[in-house]
Amino acid sequence: MKVADASVLVIGAGVVGLMSAFALLKRGVSVSVLDAGAPGAGSSWAGGGIVCPVPPWNYGPVVEQTVRTSREQFDAWLPEIEALSGIDCEYHQSGLLLSGNPNQHDFVAMSATWRAQTSERAVMGQRQDFDAGLPHGDWPAVLLPDVPQIRNPRLIQALVASHRALGGDLCAHCPVERLVQQADGRISAWQKTTCLGVGERVVLAAGAWSDQILQASGLSPLGVSPMRGQMLLFHLPPDQAPKHITNTGEGYLIPRLDGHILAGSTIEDVGFDTAPTPSAADKIHQMAVSTWPRLQSAPIIQHWAGLRPGHGSDEPAVGHRHADWPGLWVNTGHFRNGLGMAPACAEHTAEALS
Ligand SMILES: Cc1cc2nc3c(=O)[nH]c(=O)nc-3n(C[C@H](O)[C@H](O)[C@H](O)COP(=O)(O)OP(=O)(O)OC[C@H]3O[C@@H](n4cnc5c(N)ncnc54)[C@H](O)[C@@H]3O)c2cc1C
Repeated sequence: MKVADASVLVIGAGVVGLMSAFALLKRGVSVSVLDAGAPGAGSSWAGGGIVCPVPPWNYGPVVEQTVRTSREQFDAWLPEIEALSGIDCEYHQSGLLLSGNPNQHDFVAMSATWRAQTSERAVMGQRQDFDAGLPHGDWPAVLLPDVPQIRNPRLIQALVASHRALGGDLCAHCPVERLVQQADGRISAWQKTTCLGVGERVVLAAGAWSDQILQASGLSPLGVSPMRGQMLLFHLPPDQAPKHITNTGEGYLIPRLDGHILAGSTIEDVGFDTAPTPSAADKIHQMAVSTWPRLQSAPIIQHWAGLRPGHGSDEPAVGHRHADWPGLWVNTGHFRNGLGMAPACAEHTAEALS
């Protein structure tokens, strides 16, 4: 087996690892990425691609600022990623409509306060003012028209292709069991007795699995743990689908440009079990149909689950890890907002390493 040898070894080819690699490659740093499976097959493929915490006023300033910076970064980077890969990631402002039973969710009051603090655009009204396909009833609603989404499986494909186009090395199906700091300060990545790669620096971006690697390397864990989330996929003719990402407080619908509609999600603390369950499918289906009644007769095309890298709080763990391991950096623990926070965290990591 070829041993990856680069200035920076990135462990994990999810959106966080691949974006970190992209930011480093753009600075002329040589990068090798190692992944246990296929790139993006962890949480990054399974997610929804909303580039905004939902609802945004439930999150602290770190998450909000990171997502805001990421939006600027997406604007700056995506044209290059799409040109290098030839893949359209469907990054667009579909807007986020928040509308829920006012007895349970006072979206309007909360969004008014939040709008005053952030100067983000927010339009108040009744839900039917925004989308005629929503059920009748006088429910107040708030539209955040500038919220974007990205088609995350395409983003992963585009990042892999642009990584290779920029000269990056990527080894799929290379599970790293532990890291070893060598006498010369470089760090090697091992699977049993096989050395998979060596780098002057390592960025650990293994999502929900990050703590397993730290512990096997004799280092203290970060407190990152898997949080399963399940999704259903529907399809309607595009003119029958919701116009905006629609969140009722019980769940959300994400309409893609071609009529596919993602419905999610659950948050389950069940370890590393990625099996979708019939009870979650029922619950999400009910939420989807009550939010958008036209889905009643639409077949479920796919049902899947992914493991978010939970981190206790909503803030990720980004930065230098251990005083005795100067070459080890972490970029993980993005929980529910890793697609939305990846570019800013990648840029921060690359800036610190170059
Ligand atoms: C249902 C659901 C909906 C979501 N919706 C959104 C959303 O709308 N917006 C948003 O911003 N975020 C969303 N998220 C969260 C988002 O998907 C994650 O925060 C993000 O994908 C984390 O990226 P990551 O690269 O850290 O992790 P991952 O994508 O899980 O990547 C980690 C990688 O590390 C690899 N790995 C693991 N162990 C090893 C090892 N030993 N050696 C080498 N490689 C290893 C894995 O194979 C994997 O490819 C959602 C998540 C889920 C599950």
